[in-house]
Amino acid sequence: MFILSSPSGAGKTTISRMLLDRDGEINLSVSATTRPKRPGEVDGKHYHFVDQAEFDRMVEADEFYEWATVFGHCYGTPKAQIRSGLKEGRDYLFDIDWQGTQQLYQKDQQDVVRVFILPPSLDELQRRLTGRGTDSPEVIQARMERARAEISHWDGYDYVVVNDEVEACYDQVLAILHAERMKRARQTGLIGFVRGLMKD
Ligand code: 5GP
Repeated sequence: MFILSSPSGAGKTTISRMLLDRDGEINLSVSATTRPKRPGEVDGKHYHFVDQAEFDRMVEADEFYEWATVFGHCYGTPKAQIRSGLKEGRDYLFDIDWQGTQQLYQKDQQDVVRVFILPPSLDELQRRLTGRGTDSPEVIQARMERARAEISHWDGYDYVVVNDEVEACYDQVLAILHAERMKRARQTGLIGFVRGLMKD
């Protein structure tokens, strides 16, 4: 479970898309959310867009690994889609906030890798949020305030990467993913392989 968190505008979505496009082995965990769809977003691909009643039903039915309220909307990780994949040893990318990260870590410390992406400065963050052109000035202001709060949780992560330049940031995130995959405990089948080596 490879978690990428950052204040919005720090480049996490771009980095996530690059990972999904270029690394054939990682799958996106598609969250459910009550927030309205943004232009260009596709239901079932970027999020499962649900109404509050459906979200509440899913919470009641214990269908989420974790869920949290972010910017006044509910977001949650549905268990169904990733449960079988995780059992088969597949890798999943989670684009979730610090609250969700804490919940996943508490449930499953060994399988979780937590990466936090920081913007090079708050000025640059504001510039990126404005340039995106999808949110009103009030929403951007709220996101800037939220960004400061989100940044304060940087110490709850295993890795911290500053996104000065997107390709360099991506290379660093990829290096983390590759190194974590090589951890002895994650290499299933290694015991049999090494036994075979020792017999020869
Ligand atoms: P946005 O509305 O910009 O897509 O996402 C807002 C925030 O919600 C981002 O920080 C994103 O990482 C977080 N988020 C998205 N999906 C989930 C989820 O399933 N669980 C949690 N805890 N946070 C999420």
